[in-house]
Amino acid sequence: MFENKNRTEAGELGEFGLIDHLTKDTILYNKSSLKGIGDDAAIINTGKGKVSVVSTDMLIEGVHFDLSYMPLRHLGYKAVVVNLSDICAMNARPEQILLSIAASNRFSLEAMEELYSGIHLACKHYKVDLVGGDTSTSHKGLMLSLTAIGSADENKISYRNTAGQTDLLCVTGDLGGAYVGYQLLEREKRIFLEKPDFQPDLEGNDYILQRQLKPEARIDVIDMLNTLGIKPSSMIDISDGLASEVHHLCKQSNIGMVVYEDKLPIDSQTFEKAREFNLDPMICALNGGEDYELLFTIAQTDYDKIKGNPDITVIGHCTEPAAGINVVTKAGNTFPLKAQGWQAFS
Ligand code: ADP
Ligand code: MG
Repeated sequence: MFENKNRTEAGELGEFGLIDHLTKDTILYNKSSLKGIGDDAAIINTGKGKVSVVSTDMLIEGVHFDLSYMPLRHLGYKAVVVNLSDICAMNARPEQILLSIAASNRFSLEAMEELYSGIHLACKHYKVDLVGGDTSTSHKGLMLSLTAIGSADENKISYRNTAGQTDLLCVTGDLGGAYVGYQLLEREKRIFLEKPDFQPDLEGNDYILQRQLKPEARIDVIDMLNTLGIKPSSMIDISDGLASEVHHLCKQSNIGMVVYEDKLPIDSQTFEKAREFNLDPMICALNGGEDYELLFTIAQTDYDKIKGNPDITVIGHCTEPAAGINVVTKAGNTFPLKAQGWQAFS
């Protein structure tokens, strides 16, 4: 079909390199397209100072989820959450979703109903409306594609490329739990495959399992920031891991950053379980994906408004770009922060 002798593997570029390569010549023909590719969601002018916020995500069986431990109801819920999180990352409130699904004949009507029970539950929980989608068969496996739509005042939108060099770096909730939950589920699956009569030992790990199987989108934080009178100077959601998202903010805002390891919020269950797996809890917090927390920067003058807030932790600060992107360890040593991320594409 493509008779090109110099065949290049698309995977060689990595996910972000591939997106950049394929979209670098994109032209926006409509004035209403205020922000196209490059942020958590696109921003579309709807007039009178209002904007629509639109984002889409795909979830593919065997790549993004494993049905041997992911109940279909949870999958439906998580698929919605992942998309709502991208709308929140623009400092907007999600209002509608569209859901397209392709399933092989391995999936019965009952199985699909189970999936939709999770989707409806998320819609009810977040007061979001399912307004459309598409249905198809697939030769193999299950694929979901979701689009979320939100709305906001244009002047409230937080982009990735507007952080200031003296701003503070903040994160919501805690980090690394989803990754450690994933490690636990993978371990139990491996044991189960070797000994099918084995009963999984998941007791006492509710928090990290919930972080992996039933994450939440931080709409509560968007409302709280609004109440506190804070507009983040930049924001992104944590899907690929903190370090990777820090790099996105720095690259797009042309700044440097310092992250303090001892400031990273880590739940005690995440910490203990990581240790049990011989994993460094700090590395889990920096590079584990799928936390769906919000990472944002604020002006120093806003610090008093978030001081002592149990949902928000200041984990570092922005710097001039020449200072680079660094992490200060507990021992006080400074290292360049590597963005390993969650390379779903590789
Ligand atoms: P997120 O992790 O927040 O979902 P991604 O890393 O998937 O964001 O995407 C980064 C940006 O690139 C987004 O603006 C997204 O809409 C855009 N993008 C991703 N894939 C494509 C594609 N195949 N064509 C056009 N734009 C894309
Ligand atoms: Mg995102």
